Order: sequence, then C-alpha cells, then structure tokens
Amino acid sequence: MDANMQGDAHLNARTRRAHLEAMAREPLDVLVIGGGITGAGVALDAVTRGYRVGLVERADFASGTSSRSTKLLHGGIRYLPQFDIALVSEGLHERGRLLRNAPHLARPLAFLLPLYDSSRKPVGLPVAPPFGIGLTMILDIGLWLYDRLAGKRSIAPHRRLSRAETVRRMPGLTEKGVKSGFLYYDGQTDDARLTLAVSRTAVMYGALVANYAEVTRYASDEDGHITGAYVRDTLDGDGTERVIRARHVVNASGVWAEANDHLSGGESHLHIAPSKGAHLVFTRERLGLGDEAIVLPETDDGRIIFIVPWLARALVGTTDTGTSLAAPPVAEQDDIAYLLNHLNRYLREPVSIADIVSTYAGYRPLLRLKKGEATGKLSRAHEVVEREDGLVTVAGGKLTSYRQMAEDVVDHLEAREGKHQPTATGALRLQGATRWPESRELFFQRAAEMRLDATVAEHLVHAYGDEALEILDLIAERSALGERLIPDLPYLRAEVVHACRAEMALTLEDLLARRLHISLEDRARGLGVAAEVATLMAQELGWSEEERVARLAAYDKYVRAEAGPLAGLLPPPQAAAKSVTAHE
Ligand code: FAD
Repeated sequence: MDANMQGDAHLNARTRRAHLEAMAREPLDVLVIGGGITGAGVALDAVTRGYRVGLVERADFASGTSSRSTKLLHGGIRYLPQFDIALVSEGLHERGRLLRNAPHLARPLAFLLPLYDSSRKPVGLPVAPPFGIGLTMILDIGLWLYDRLAGKRSIAPHRRLSRAETVRRMPGLTEKGVKSGFLYYDGQTDDARLTLAVSRTAVMYGALVANYAEVTRYASDEDGHITGAYVRDTLDGDGTERVIRARHVVNASGVWAEANDHLSGGESHLHIAPSKGAHLVFTRERLGLGDEAIVLPETDDGRIIFIVPWLARALVGTTDTGTSLAAPPVAEQDDIAYLLNHLNRYLREPVSIADIVSTYAGYRPLLRLKKGEATGKLSRAHEVVEREDGLVTVAGGKLTSYRQMAEDVVDHLEAREGKHQPTATGALRLQGATRWPESRELFFQRAAEMRLDATVAEHLVHAYGDEALEILDLIAERSALGERLIPDLPYLRAEVVHACRAEMALTLEDLLARRLHISLEDRARGLGVAAEVATLMAQELGWSEEERVARLAAYDKYVRAEAGPLAGLLPPPQAAAKSVTAHE
C-alpha cells in the first residue's frame, strides 16, 4: 500500500457535513468546482502531489455529463479519418492505464464493424472511394494504426472477418448485403461509478469532498484576485452558505464552465458549445446482442452508431446535435426517431418505441476559446485557461482522458507555484483496486461459500472491487439484505445500505440512477422498487416518514422528466404510490 495513502474513503451524510466544515475552517490549497470525472481527476492529482484539496459538487457526483456517456474507454475510431492522431493516441493510452488501474470498473470490449455493399463512407470517412474500391484496405490500415497508437497498451490486434464470420457474430442484424467485417478492441466502464471511485481515491489521500454543495460566487481580495468561493448547501434547500478559502480555484464544471466563469460578473473568457447526445436502452435479447459491441458503420450525417452491451442491457447511441442548456438533457422525439430509424436499417426484426426499456441524454462540453484570450492550450481535445483574477478552468476532453486533463491542470498550478513535481496518477490504483486481485479471489471464495448467484457475484465484484467483500459482510449480518431488488437485475438490498454508508448516496436518484443503474435498466425506471429502497434509505439516513414520502415524490418527478416523450409509458404515480404500502 502507498505510504501517502491515509486510508478510509467511506463517505456518507455525516462525512459530507464534516468535510464541508473542514473546508470552511482552514484554507485549502486547491478548491475544485464540479464532481464530474474531470473535477474528481483534478482533486486526485492535486492531493497526491501534496496539496490540501476540497471538491464541491452542486448536485450528485457524476450527475452531469459523467453518468450520461456511451461508457466507452476509447481513442475513438471516428477521429482517425479526421487525422486527429494526438487525440486518438491520448485516449488509447488512458484506456490502457484505466484497464490496469481500475480493473474492476474497466474492461476490454470487442467491437464488430460490419461492412455492407451499400457502405460508402463508413466510420465517417470524408470521401467515398470510387465504386468502394480499396475501402476494406483503407479501414484495415486505419485499424492497424489504431492498434499501433495504443503501443504497449494495445488490447489485441484487430482482425479482418469473412462474410460468414461477420454474419455469425451479429445474429440480430440483417445479413443482406454484408460483404465482410472487422473485429477490433476498445474498453468499457461504468462512468458514474468510475467518477465515484476517482473521488473516493482522492479522499483516501486526504481530499475533502461534498455533493449537494454549490458555488454561488467567488471570494476575492482587494486586488480582485480570487481567494475562494461561497458554497451553498443544496440538500433539502437548507441553504447554509459557507465561504471556502483556497489559493487556487479550479472550475471543472463541464458544460456549465462558461456559466461559472460568469459568476463574478464581467465578460466570460470561454464559450461552451454544448452538443446533445441521446441513447436508447433495449434488452440484449431484443437486439440479439451477445458480449461484443457492434458499430453501425454509417449514418445520414456521416457518423457512426454503437450498439453496446452494458450490464444487463444494450445501449444504442448516440446523436450529436447543437443545443442550449436551458433544460436538463432528455432524449426527445427527434432523437428517438433518428436512432430508431438508423437502427432499423440494420436489424433483422425492426424495433419500435414499445421495445425501448429506457432512454438518456447528456450534453457534451465542447470548449471554444474566444479569440486571443487563451493563456494555455494543452491539446486539441481539452483546454486549461487562466483568467487575470486567477480562476483556472478546464473544459472539453472525454471521460477516457480525464486523468491527462487533470495532470495538465495540476501541472499548470505547479507552474504557478514555481514547482515542477510530476504527477503520480499514471500508475495509481483507484479505490476498489488497491487489494486486487487478491480481494477478487477472496470474494469469489466467500461468495461460493454463501451460495451467491453467479450473476450477482459477477456484478458485485465489478461494481465494488475490493469493497464487494463489505456487501457480503452486510448479507452475513442480515440475510434479508441478500435479496434482489428486482428479479431480473442483479442488484441486492445490501447495496442500498452500502451506498448510504460508504458512497454518500443521499437521495433516491443518487441511489437508483448512479450508485445502482436501475433507472436505466428497468422498464419502469425503478418506480416499482422506489418505495422499498426509500424505506431502507430512511433507516440508514434517519428520514422521517414525511421526508421519505417527499423523497419518493422527488424521484417520481425525476423519472418522468428523464423519460421525456416516453413518460406516458411509465406506471401512473398512483401505482408507484401503491407499491409503497405493498413493500412496507
Ligand atoms: P460533468 O460530468 O458535467 O461534471 C461537471 C459537474 O459540475 C456537474 O456534475 C455539475 O453539477 C457541477 N457543477 C456545475 N456548476 C457547479 C457549481 N456552481 N458548483 C458546484 N458544482 C457545479 N467520453 C468518453 O470517453 N467515452 C464515451 O463513450 C463518451 N460518450 C459520451 C456520450 C455522450 C452522449 C456525451 C454527452 C458525452 C460522452 N463522452 C464520452 C464525453 C464525457 O462524458 C465527458 O467529456 C465527461 O463526462 C465530462 O465530464 P466533466 O466532469 O467535465 O463534466
């Protein structure tokens, strides 16, 4: 174990309060705004370089874009035709690091790329080779380059497939017009849990973190230099505001970075151009999907669509449309129609709205610097910008490249301090993987002794890594906690207790949408078990009956808003309310 590691990273309502008080009591070296993957990464990098760090998130960890991605760890094959080699190479190297540093949360995934007679400009090729001549060779060279750019972190070399093998590997897709195919490799993760694991790793090294804590304005000295921020407690509208002092304030608030740049008035130095990406969720069976992802090679707007096996389900996405930030992102009618239309061009048996299990959408934080105002340009994919008053903003990038983004931010702070200490995060094991693979072996041994279902055991070890053993401890203490919440999903009641005790889950949404993923994987988006989960949470968090009912109503509202145009297919609120009594 690392000598600088201070240990316990169990987070809950009590530690949240204690962390907020500690942040306000003594000035920090670094205050990070935003508990998405970028902010979490910055907190971890800074704390492991010896800074006293605090991170505040106005809603829940990963509730912004970082729980709404396609969940791929990749360089991005579609950036190859754009010759964005630096971006692809960075992503592939970070993919490799994550597979090593968080083996419980990151795993290799095979991708099947079928080629059809009709394929003209697959994978976003800018021009179509005449009569398709040489197309296979071009893709072969591109994928060879993709393998090479990963260097020693390559998962496995890509392969060219015959027509017969391509068809055999995609039973749900039409074989009409299939010419051949390719198999290549990338990575996959659980974005929300990865964000949590990075935040908790920062806590293991001494960082202070709090969700439901919003920066409302900056604190400055007489010269106008930023010296901290005012932070409002947003849980339950409590509204307590604290001033947190810090030598460096880092704005890592993703798509809201421009709005947070404006907080102290004046003209913003940034321009965020948000782009919405939507996904549809199906059962794997309905799409005939096994353990390999499929790339639908071509869309009308020159992009690709992935069909990705994720947990018990299949994700289909994504779209890419310019948008405003006026409302939380939702898969609207147009997004659903676009994805269904493209998917049905390839499926053997077309799907309809009735087959959709759930939908979700997110805003990509694309950064555009205003002319002449950049103080730092670290790569084409993300930017670190410093204002005259000292606010440092990081924006752009991808989930996969969060560690590199964080390294660049803290290098920037180091330069400000006249120091040049290198990052330690390149080979740093994340929370859940510090005792891996020994903990994994021990877990499976104990799981077998307790006769735990194999699917449940697989789920627990991947979601929690080392801490999966703590779930077994809970079940050993109270056997009722070993029961599933929903028959066809592997989530256990014990996980609700664990999320309250160790993962700072404070609302039903935190629990059902991000600690567990029931709101994505269940057709009723968890409304059927919300009452049971609320009862368990009430016991853990000391909610009154009034509060429990209010929490249920808030979850119901969240689910209906997320479902957007499909909200009408959800069980009516009365049915959800009825199940409150049924489960009690
Ligand atoms: P966010 O996750 O949005 O975090 C910013 C946080 O700041 C939010 O939680 C917000 O609540 C908080 N905040 C805002 N204002 C304040 C304030 N005043 N005080 C306190 N907190 C505040 N990348 C990949 O590598 N692989 C993929 O497969 C992939 N797929 C994607 C698919 C889609 C549809 C989208 C939209 C993006 C995808 N990405 C992918 C990109 C990736 O998801 C994002 O780059 C990444 O999650 C952004 O993280 P972030 O921390 O910068 O922003």
